Amino acid sequence: MGCAADPPVWLKDRHGVDIDIEVKEVTDELNIRPLPQDLRGAASTRIARAGQALGYDWFPQPKFIKPERSKQQGKRFNCRANCMLGCRCGAKWNAAEWVDEAVAAGARVREGACVKAVKIENGRFAALEGSIRGVPFTARADTVVLSAGGIGTPRILQNSGLDGAGIGMTMDTTVMIYGASPDKGTGKEPPMTWSCENEDAGYMLSTLTDPWLMYPLAAVRKGIGPALNWLRWSKMLGVMIKLKDDISGGIYPDGKIRKPLTAGDTERLNDAFEVCRRILIEAGAKKSSIFMRPLIGTHPSGTVRIEDLVDIDLKTEIEGLYVCDASVFPEALDRPTVLTIIGFAKRLARHLTSKD
Ligand SMILES: Cc1cc2nc3c(=O)[nH]c(=O)nc-3n(C[C@H](O)[C@H](O)[C@H](O)COP(=O)(O)OP(=O)(O)OC[C@H]3O[C@@H](n4cnc5c(N)ncnc54)[C@H](O)[C@@H]3O)c2cc1C
Repeated sequence: MGCAADPPVWLKDRHGVDIDIEVKEVTDELNIRPLPQDLRGAASTRIARAGQALGYDWFPQPKFIKPERSKQQGKRFNCRANCMLGCRCGAKWNAAEWVDEAVAAGARVREGACVKAVKIENGRFAALEGSIRGVPFTARADTVVLSAGGIGTPRILQNSGLDGAGIGMTMDTTVMIYGASPDKGTGKEPPMTWSCENEDAGYMLSTLTDPWLMYPLAAVRKGIGPALNWLRWSKMLGVMIKLKDDISGGIYPDGKIRKPLTAGDTERLNDAFEVCRRILIEAGAKKSSIFMRPLIGTHPSGTVRIEDLVDIDLKTEIEGLYVCDASVFPEALDRPTVLTIIGFAKRLARHLTSKD
């Protein structure tokens, strides 16, 4: 959704991980800021104002999105719910742009490579093993940084015989609450233009509607009434809940992923739902139309946690083997993850190059 969020303060306070300098560098380099007021959407702004009127601290969400980038590419800025299926108008910054820079500076990229495991010899990283389009390969280096994400990285570590990877995970369990409004809804507006962080209560809220075609697929699982609201999709107001979920479940060696809600998660979710319900009514939604779509997991993370399987420099117990992605989060981030992951990556790059 092109959202950028500063790392949570607890990362430094509770876990000693300080990436403030790196995050500030990225914020300046990419000129991260909220969308201008006139592009935040009338319905989204109505929801934020309703939240503020009820005493919640809604703020314009900083974005990796720049409307002027569309213009530079000869396109029209046209950001709406289906932006989550890929940016068509070119306004969203894409991390692949940095890959292009790395390639221009001499890096080699191998596309379509699937890493299976790391080979360890005498307690030290020796090689990466995998395949490229079915053809096996082995890659040797002094140092390797696994970045296969909250699901991929623990699987590679499990295949490599590292105990503990993938036991327990966080997900920032996510759900949208909808209510029908007599006016235009949030679907045709850029997603997540306004947010509200409630760290003490353990959830984040933001303005968001499922894309038109995805909406009925989700809503039908809540019954025929919510599904029929598809006909009123353009008038639905949507508020997303991201839950700071407890560590539970995990990535199992049989290939399954399980992420049950704990009793605490359920309590926080119920609280957040009640807050959303009040905000939607205040914003003009019809009380009887309000419902919660089925839960989704958007941020698989916390599967190779700092202080557990990697140290605060992101090194595993294996010499030369590092991890840098959402799997290292020590607890649920409960916010957009990308800026924090970039901060980790820049800090790790500094750490590794300072050792040369
Ligand atoms: C719908 C949606 C919207 C989101 N919007 C935002 C947002 O607005 N802002 C934000 O900050 N976050 C957002 N997120 C979350 C964010 O995209 C992820 O948390 C983040 O990309 C995780 O980064 P990562 O590096 O851990 O993993 P990934 O981005 O998943 O990268 C891991 C990569 O490794 C590859 N891989 C996996 N296994 C292997 C293997 N064995 N061999 C080789 N390659 C492998 C994968 O294909 C993938 O390309 C959103 C998530 C969803 C689902």
